Amino acid sequence: MATLTLEHVKKSFGETKVIHGVDIDVADGEFIVIVGPSGCGKSTLLRMVAGLEGVSEGEICIGGDRVNEKEPMARDIAMVFQNYALYPHMSVAENMGYGLKIAKTPKPEIATRVQEAAKLLQLEPYLKRRPRELSGGQRQRVAMGRAIVRRPAVFLFDEPLSNLDAKLRVQMRLEIKQLQRKLGVTALYVTHDQVEAMTLADRMIVMNAGVADQIGAPLDVYADPETAFVAGFIGSPP
Ligand code: ADP
Ligand code: MG
Repeated sequence: MATLTLEHVKKSFGETKVIHGVDIDVADGEFIVIVGPSGCGKSTLLRMVAGLEGVSEGEICIGGDRVNEKEPMARDIAMVFQNYALYPHMSVAENMGYGLKIAKTPKPEIATRVQEAAKLLQLEPYLKRRPRELSGGQRQRVAMGRAIVRRPAVFLFDEPLSNLDAKLRVQMRLEIKQLQRKLGVTALYVTHDQVEAMTLADRMIVMNAGVADQIGAPLDVYADPETAFVAGFIGSPP
């Protein structure tokens, strides 16, 4: 059974149709990357899965349950944003544990999970610092730590590396790849960067103006693009 299913999902903002009927199945442990140019609807799709945006038509299921009407906190997901969205007045440890605190997880359990995630992400020396005292890469790790401690069925990533400089982006891409291997996470990961998509994806989805043009293993998409758009997008320099 798929961990996450989107069935003919559509989205309009007023009269403007933005997502035209997208079908996606994410299997347990599968890392799916949605790639496409700015404005094609990647964030909107992810925000619907997260419950931050309503669905106009279609169905979203997580772990077999329809979640269309569920609040974000009631969905078994955790989202990592492009701008990290860390709380400036909280320490690294408090930032990482905040979601668990809201969910009324017992304090010792929060401490254990934060410690584990900090170890995994090499953040142990920084747990008492504030976000402003961290580098960009460290902030990005805290944002990932905050998702990891929740142990969600599905991780959602919206361009998590796009605020980093090119060198750090390559390093963080490799770190995410390693984490993926260690934790076996199930994820829907959005990027406009085709290299990131090719590196991280078990399967990638090339999106074009609200339509999933092609879904497949990166090498298959690369070798055998099904539309002119996919050929142009995948073949173009990053
Ligand atoms: P991407 O993440 O691929 O860059 P988005 O999902 O952010 O694309 O946006 C897709 C389209 O939907 C864009 O044309 C954008 O202007 C439009 N859009 C996104 N959010 C809203 C909104 N809240 N109201 C109206 N239009 C929106
Ligand atoms: Mg976006």
